[in-house]
Amino acid sequence: MSTKRAFNFCAGPAALPTPVLEKAGLELADWHGKGLSIMEMSHRSADVVAVCDKAEQDLRDLMAIPDNYKVLFMQGGASSQFSMIPLNLMTGSGKADYIVTGQWSKKAWQEAKRYGNAVVAASTESNNFSSAPSQAELVLSPDADYVHYCPNETIGGVAFDYIPDTGDVPLVADFSSVLLAEPLDVSRFGMIYAGAQKNIGPAGLCVVIIREDLLGKAQACTPTMFDYKVCADNASMYNTPPTYSWYLAGLVFEWLKDLGGVDAIAEINHRKAKRLYDYIDNSGFYANPVAIANRSIMNVPFTLADSKLDKLFLQESEAAGLLNLAGHRSVGGMRASIYNAVPEEAVTALIDFMADFARRNG
Ligand SMILES: *Cc1c(COP(=O)(O)O)cnc(C)c1O
Repeated sequence: MSTKRAFNFCAGPAALPTPVLEKAGLELADWHGKGLSIMEMSHRSADVVAVCDKAEQDLRDLMAIPDNYKVLFMQGGASSQFSMIPLNLMTGSGKADYIVTGQWSKKAWQEAKRYGNAVVAASTESNNFSSAPSQAELVLSPDADYVHYCPNETIGGVAFDYIPDTGDVPLVADFSSVLLAEPLDVSRFGMIYAGAQKNIGPAGLCVVIIREDLLGKAQACTPTMFDYKVCADNASMYNTPPTYSWYLAGLVFEWLKDLGGVDAIAEINHRKAKRLYDYIDNSGFYANPVAIANRSIMNVPFTLADSKLDKLFLQESEAAGLLNLAGHRSVGGMRASIYNAVPEEAVTALIDFMADFARRNG
């Protein structure tokens, strides 16, 4: 099959691998000869449970998730986790540290303040979120219930180049835009979560990976659907889970495994990002504002020499089949999100277009 596909640089919902969409298309109305769609089947049926279990196992294999961690498939995107985390975990001292490096970690902190003493352990807002703080700059409280941070800020394209050391305090991380992009030592974290629509699957689904000893600590008022222990005890099927999204995530995990896993995709991701940053830095026309050490390998914001050219750039890039290059509405400029499913040819085509545009307008 050869589906005609544009190059999609959307930050989210983002590109999905073409082979995954083709397989889902073939199976849409008649899944494995059963005469119905997977999305029309009971979530309690053996078939759906097998699909869901396999997705979890493939994710465990891809990330080498230790046995003392639960994998939960939850709903409400990553943003619902901003409430679930304090409800479930800010229950010892009632205090938690938040590292603020962009709009997502700021939102997480603001939401947590509704539930307890959410303290800013470091913030880079004063430099317009263009870097991440060093370990030495983190002001951590030894009695915090957890430390929260966002390893890859999707809007600013700002990434940590290290995993914060929080001693015995559990580290909670919003990996929405960088999960499965490169290898990760899960054992360094109390909890990892990621909204699916960047590197995993359709929007709405959120993957949560949580150490077992952090379950069962939720505040009494926690909504049943928001309680990690309830979710874990019911294998993420306390209510009807988003079975189709879960199935699609499973197809993405299979695709990634076939490709050689996270090590293989990481090599491609680093090559894609390096080529784009190198081009931007040497262009004399485009610029990226992020500190070199903190540049994201997934989200690459850039500005043009003259912002009056932005509109033309977006019109012409779209006409050339390079879609969704506008920066976030809050920051303007451009942003190319080059997630796992964005092929290397897309980056080549983007650089060629950028060079041609600069030649004609520089
Ligand atoms: C996209 C994103 C979110 C929000 O995800 P929703 O599923 O829309 O709630 C949160 N954090 C990060 C880092 C993101 O990239």
